Amino acid sequence: MTDRRDFVKASLVASALSGLAGTAKAASPVKPVVVSTWDFGVAANQAAWSVIQGGGHALDAVEAGARVPEADMKNHSVGRAGYPDRDGHVSLDACIMDEQWRCGGVAALEHIAHPISVARRVLEKTPHVLLVGDGALQFAIEQGFPKEELLTPESEAAWREWLKVQNYQPVANSEMSTYGHVPNSKMPGDEHNHDTLGILALDGQGRLSGACTTSGMAWKLRGRVGDSPIIGAGLYVDGEIGAATSTGVGEEVIRNAGSFLVVELMRQGRSPQKACEEAVMRIVRRRPEAAKTLQVGFLALNTKGQVGAFAIQKGFVYAQRDAKATDTVVPAKSFFA
Ligand code: ASP
Repeated sequence: MTDRRDFVKASLVASALSGLAGTAKAASPVKPVVVSTWDFGVAANQAAWSVIQGGGHALDAVEAGARVPEADMKNHSVGRAGYPDRDGHVSLDACIMDEQWRCGGVAALEHIAHPISVARRVLEKTPHVLLVGDGALQFAIEQGFPKEELLTPESEAAWREWLKVQNYQPVANSEMSTYGHVPNSKMPGDEHNHDTLGILALDGQGRLSGACTTSGMAWKLRGRVGDSPIIGAGLYVDGEIGAATSTGVGEEVIRNAGSFLVVELMRQGRSPQKACEEAVMRIVRRRPEAAKTLQVGFLALNTKGQVGAFAIQKGFVYAQRDAKATDTVVPAKSFFA
């Protein structure tokens, strides 16, 4: 009898809650938006958009989007064809997060072409958030991901070029950058020789998710992990507020919990644009000398579908896809003009 009364009570509560949810949804229809770092984000956005258009969840959308540059043989900063570390090993970093604070990541993962999908499995199949190195590889293999040699002939040739000079400078994607670049390279795809893919999506039901995937700094020290697989650094999603992602010198982003900072600034009332600007300024103020030669860019999206971006150096662009704008590439404003 008690059981039955409890059951009836629970059913009443559940139907009242679902009624509320239904009312909220009807009152504010959501216009989906997808944004990604860099111009190669256009193709990522297209893949994400087709998931969202079909009524899919933002989490599936960002995973589908992130897999596009991961598979691109011309993209030497993300996934399969990523440039290797100083010793010639391709090691990949990625993380993924949804609107319910569910998240997963992998760092320094070798031999697996789609780290974002391994990160998704960490989210779904384990009680953990981050797996690294050999443990991450073991998990990926157990989950059925094929183990492959990721060092392509092009990446190997570029690495051997770099070995001749070995100029180890942590400077990414600014105009004066040499780190991650092969001087005077004529390699196909070197125009895409930067950087992390960070992708943020708001789906038709107002659910936010994000994904971040990279091969990190080219020619990095073996074992070096940047911001991209670190929840709060390279990516953060708060389903009630907004989401942020970053690209550039990961050490500076980790030091300042960059993406978390952007989301917290939005929580305090900043627009995505103002939040990105303030987060960049915090890095610049704390390390003014270093900031002259390094690049960090933030990209943010809030639950209203508003977008913002800002970088230390000029040159950072992001790609946007929504119902109105098909595949726009937008230059972000920057601290140094
Ligand atoms: N943020 C990445 C890292 O530090 C690289 C980049 O976006 O340029 O690994």
